[in-house]
Amino acid sequence: MADPSSELQSVEDALAALLEGVRPVASESITCEAAAGRVLAEDVAARLDVPTFDNSAMDGYALRAEDAGQWLPVSQRIPAGAPAKPLAPGTCVRLFTGSELPPGADCVVMQERVERDGNQAWIPADIPAGDNVRRRGRDVSVGTRLLATGTRLEAAALGQLAGQGITEVTVRRRPRIALLSTGDEIVDPGEPLGPGQIYNSNRPMLRRLIERFGGEVVMARRVADDFATTCHLLGEAAAQADVVITTGGVSVGEEDHVKAALEQLGQLDLWRLAMRPGKPLALGRLPTTNGEARLVGLPGNPVSSYVGAWIYLRPLLGALLGSPALAELPRLRARADFTTHTRERRHYMRVELRFLPEGPVASAFADQNSGVLSSCVTANALAVVPANTSIAPGDAIDCLWLTEA
Ligand code: AMP
Ligand code: MG
Repeated sequence: MADPSSELQSVEDALAALLEGVRPVASESITCEAAAGRVLAEDVAARLDVPTFDNSAMDGYALRAEDAGQWLPVSQRIPAGAPAKPLAPGTCVRLFTGSELPPGADCVVMQERVERDGNQAWIPADIPAGDNVRRRGRDVSVGTRLLATGTRLEAAALGQLAGQGITEVTVRRRPRIALLSTGDEIVDPGEPLGPGQIYNSNRPMLRRLIERFGGEVVMARRVADDFATTCHLLGEAAAQADVVITTGGVSVGEEDHVKAALEQLGQLDLWRLAMRPGKPLALGRLPTTNGEARLVGLPGNPVSSYVGAWIYLRPLLGALLGSPALAELPRLRARADFTTHTRERRHYMRVELRFLPEGPVASAFADQNSGVLSSCVTANALAVVPANTSIAPGDAIDCLWLTEA
């Protein structure tokens, strides 16, 4: 008898096929205020040294280190934001954190160590030159690369841009995604639920994930289980999207029309993957007037499409955005606190990772059935249990951290 596992294909092969030939989308210039979460399409060079001038790291007194160890007259007071005059030799200067260091001074003594008597200040001996001085260019030197192409603009990067006085950046436009929910049984929230019908969980779930991965949903439609409708809506979706995502309808049931429609309109590969949840996956290309749209056909089952989005859509959006951080989910080792075993398919178990003093521990949601979306709600990682493997409590397992960047 043929080994059924030999017919199953690997996740890695499907991912390579999905990403083959994917190029970053076009770029656009936007204001930094609107740039949170966007991906840089070009390097940003520093226009300024940061700090832009030598300044004090303390509230205190600036002087020449060689003048320390005596009473010195206080010849200047420099609040932060005021210009500094050169240091008169043999004097010290009252200044504050962030105040410009006066030319000629080379160190700052913190105020707690200084005694004041009228206009005189006692400076302790043995102050090293450079003490408590933040040198110009220590953080960033003008002309060097401030941020690299492919950087996702999160808090610190936005701070770096502002620190340069930059107000506009060139980023990738958001990849355009069309979401098609197939199934005659699917009803959107807000509509009454008839017998045999279920609400559409996949649409809001995938929309949220796509937004977290840096994409934008430009079309979201339900598709009746009907060949002509499926063809029509696939064409409409391909015309406006970089990626058309369908849910459901990629099994080989007689009500599954995505496959037949794709074969008529473009090109399709149906994958039977050695993974659980989500064995079927459709990958295709739909020609359009100005190129082609990619198609990813996720299984209808919400758990399968949730896991499939992390495994396939996140790297796809990473490739479209030119963002290396999205290419692979961060992987970490954790101790399982559960028992499980797999057969011919790798299992992506929904787990909650807890970071305990003795190391990360993965707790599996009790019911790992692929129909149980509750398992995804508290999961912050997918434990990857290889095929034909038994796991006992305490065993080390690989986990994929579910993060958008
Ligand atoms: P299919 O792949 O079309 O055979 O669907 C597999 C299972 O997922 C069926 O039980 C469907 O009813 C269910 N399903 C398909 N699409 C959705 C959706 N958008 N929301 C919730 N369940 C769905
Ligand atoms: Mg269906």
